[in-house]
Amino acid sequence: MTELPPAHFRADVLVVDDNQANLRLLTDVLSSGSYRVHEALSGPDALRLAQSARPDLVLLDISMPGMDGFQVCERLKADACTRDIPVIFISALSDTDDVVRGFEVGGVDYITKPFKFREVLARIASQLTLVHQRQEIEALRRQDRQTFESLSRMKNEFIRMATHDLRNPLNVILGYTSVLERLAVADEHRALMDEALQAINGNVEKMRKLVTDMLDLAQMETSWQFKPAPVSLAGLLEKAVGSFHLIAEQKGIALSLTPPAGDTTVVVDANAITRVVDNLIVNALKYTPLGGRIAVRAKLRGQYAIIQVGDNGIGIPPEDAPHVFDAFYRVKQANNPDVEGTGLGLSIVKAIVERHGGRIDVRSKVGAGSVFSVVLPRGSRS
Ligand code: ADP
Repeated sequence: MTELPPAHFRADVLVVDDNQANLRLLTDVLSSGSYRVHEALSGPDALRLAQSARPDLVLLDISMPGMDGFQVCERLKADACTRDIPVIFISALSDTDDVVRGFEVGGVDYITKPFKFREVLARIASQLTLVHQRQEIEALRRQDRQTFESLSRMKNEFIRMATHDLRNPLNVILGYTSVLERLAVADEHRALMDEALQAINGNVEKMRKLVTDMLDLAQMETSWQFKPAPVSLAGLLEKAVGSFHLIAEQKGIALSLTPPAGDTTVVVDANAITRVVDNLIVNALKYTPLGGRIAVRAKLRGQYAIIQVGDNGIGIPPEDAPHVFDAFYRVKQANNPDVEGTGLGLSIVKAIVERHGGRIDVRSKVGAGSVFSVVLPRGSRS
């Protein structure tokens, strides 16, 4: 007799056949193979037993009066509780159509009458091995997911703590530099003192920005409580764009807004979405040379709002474009090496957009410019 792998020992098999003699025969063979056998003489009986006994496998006769094997299988597959139980059909040897239909309705294998018992046991064992392997893979996946989630939580907690602990000393340094600035020093040392203080202030500012961005990213990705409320998208954009007119003018950059027409109500966290638009405009200003153009456009399409920030700046090389939303990623720009940044702005933008159920992408051409497009669900406005 076929030796059963340990995984199958005492596995529960539901045998369904309206023919008493066949049922007995299969039950005897399976019991001798150390399976626990449940018997059903009809389709409805089989469905009831599948629910109560939750077998590991069903051996299902196709031709039965009333509800046939195909119908039973369809019902098993339609129910979330029994969907994953493998079904092996029992068919008459000649019926190719039966075999094909059996696979179509979700069967995994078939055995033919008259039974060859070694084959029956081998097929059952092989299906149970597959089930067992699938369960193991699923368990590993679950474990991986849990490990990943706990690592991600640890990372965010670490960043949060580190940034809090860094922010305070930075503020203390800034406080002392302002004291030093006011200190009376001999004239010959004044210039050196001012230079040193400027350097300290500049670097502390850089660190403060990095620390703030790191903290924001960690929070935006997970714990930040967004407060969606109905807001006019046109109004939000006018305010956001308006706050950059002066800076754009100073850089000789033409900044324009084409707001959507009609009722532009969207349900979003206005502060967060303003931050998205701000960040995109700041970037466009940083990466567009003097005399350039920045166009902010928005339109409404069905249930979605689309916001685009386009510029005719330096552009992004195609190999870098997919990575600009990654944390700390900055394009090495030979033509614009002095622009400062943390490489976190776009990852914060992406986190906000995705937590609103939207998405962001970029189309860009080196030397011609970039267009960042944000698609947001308009949310329930009733
Ligand atoms: P950073 O603080 O470096 O600006 P971001 O996450 O905002 O960080 O952007 C990541 C990188 O994407 C930038 O370093 C820059 O190389 C590129 N980038 C972003 N916006 C633009 C733009 N409008 N034009 C060209 N390059 C851009």
